[in-house]
Parts: sequence; structure tokens; C-alpha cells
Amino acid sequence: MYKKTDKIWMDGKLVPWNEAKVHVLTHTLHYGVGAFEGIRYYECGDQGSAVFRLKEHMQRFIESNHVVALELPYSLDQLMEACLETIRVNGLKEGYLRPVSYIGDEPNAGLWAHDNDIHVSILTWGWGAYLGDEGIKNGIRAKVSSFTRMHRNVSMTKGKINGQYVNSVMAKLESKKAGYDEAILLDTEGFVAEGTGENIFVVKNGVVRTPQLGSILNGITRDCIATLLKEEGIPLEESPLTRDDLYIADEIFVTGTAAEVTPIREVDDRRVGTGKPGAVTQKMQKLYDDAIHGRTPKHKEWLTFIET
Ligand code: PMP
Repeated sequence: MYKKTDKIWMDGKLVPWNEAKVHVLTHTLHYGVGAFEGIRYYECGDQGSAVFRLKEHMQRFIESNHVVALELPYSLDQLMEACLETIRVNGLKEGYLRPVSYIGDEPNAGLWAHDNDIHVSILTWGWGAYLGDEGIKNGIRAKVSSFTRMHRNVSMTKGKINGQYVNSVMAKLESKKAGYDEAILLDTEGFVAEGTGENIFVVKNGVVRTPQLGSILNGITRDCIATLLKEEGIPLEESPLTRDDLYIADEIFVTGTAAEVTPIREVDDRRVGTGKPGAVTQKMQKLYDDAIHGRTPKHKEWLTFIET
């Protein structure tokens, strides 16, 4: 459940939450061409609140739009400032930020609509642990999905593109209906790709492995974890992972802005390792938590403080 806030930034104007509406002929509603981001901001003790890796998220937002041939009418700086303004005006100290772009309803209604106006909205709301408090503490139960992650020439996986999330929503639905917390999707070659909104890491005999970029989103949390592992001297390999690599792993965890670092304690009804979050997972959870809350001086560059 999300917590509503007061105002939504829509094309440069701050609009009351209940009035932030679009026309039903909005092109993106029909065909899914647009992009979005998911960003979190956190309280950092007496330093105030800070947005975590704002610049990287908004750079990816621009790139995602570029991938689907949408050139936004805003610069990176303008978009970053709009994000900060949305946070400031709503007064939350911690929350989630959702920039979204979409093609408008005029003048074209068919597929060819790249001369329609392009819109950007930015929303913020309060959001707790995405995979549940219990999940982040003790681990979640995951199921390998019957839905395949889309081939990189079917969807364009470097982009966080609206319509592509049908794949994630279907996989999530299937896993939840079957009584699991999350789905793990395989790619078209049958190797492990990612969760519905998370990247995946597998620990075996002290080595951490994660799928290479190819049919997965280039996660910003994934990048943080790669940095943190390196700083800890824990080896990380980008390599193909099979379904049974998951079954025989010592530890598995997933990463994402929403999910943060969440342990997986069971895959397809097989216990992972001891069935409890392992040492590497716990270390990454702690280091990530320190970084997002401004407790790691060397990673201050990941934070954009919100001036009030
Ligand atoms: N994969 C998918 C499919 C996602 O939607 C997300 C969430 N953006 C991620 C991975 C994790 O990305 P990030 O760490 O940048 O939030």
C-alpha cells in the first residue's frame, strides 16, 4: 500500500494529487511507449534527507526515453530539480519518487504519434519495504517463472520502458497466485535473468555471481553492490547462471531501488543454503543501508541532499 501525498509535478506545474489526470486517449495508455524511474530518498540523521543516486536514475530516465525515440523537453538538470521540488513540496522525509513520461492524446491516435506532445510527471509517495518487512529481514520465497524475460531484440532491456512491464506484472501475478513472494525470470536461452523488479546475485563458495547485462535492466542498486563487494574484497563474476545454480547456492539476494537488498530463502520449494540470510547477504544489506542513510563518507557522492 502506498501513502498519498499532496502534489504531483505535471509538465512543470504542481497539481493536487486527485486532479492529476490524463485523457483516456493518452497514447501510452494504449501502446505502452514511455519510460519511468523508481528512486528512493532517505533520512540521513542530522544531515537531513537525501535522494539516493538521483543523477544516475535521471540519466537512465533520459536514456530509456531515447531508446524509445522520445526526446524529452527537459534537460538532466531540470529533471533533477523537478524531482527535488516534488519532494520539497510534499514534505516527506523518506519516500519513493516516480518520474514517468508518456505520449499525449493529440493529434494522433494511431501507432504513429511521434509528433504528439511528450509529457513528464513526477510523483512521490511513502513506501515501506517492497517485498515486506519480514521478507527483507528473513528472506522471501521465490519461484522460477513460466514467463521468459524478453529477448533484447523484443524489448530493449537497457530502458525502463512502460509497456515492457507487462512481462513483470504477469510473472509477479503468477508467483503471488501460487503462494510465493517473487518470480525469477529466465532469459530466452534458459539462463537466470532477474526478478520482476530486481537484479539477482548468487553466492557459492565465497564467490558472488550475477548475470551479465544482456537481457536484464542495468540496475543502479546492482552497480552499488558491485562497488561494495569490490571494497570488501569479495569476488564478483558476471556469468550465466542456470536454474539449478539457484537451487545449490549458499545464498541468494535480489537488489533494486524498491526492494533494496532482499534475501531469498527458498527457490521452487528448495531451501537456499541454511534457509536464513547468509553472511555476504547480511554484509551487503548493512553496507547498503549505511550508504543510503549517509553513514558512509566515501559514498556521499551517491547522495543529493534535499535543501528545505
Ligand atoms: N530489474 C528490473 C526489471 C527492474 O524493474 C528494476 C527496478 N528498477 C531492477 C532490475 C533494479 O534496478 P534499480 O536497482 O536501478 O532499481
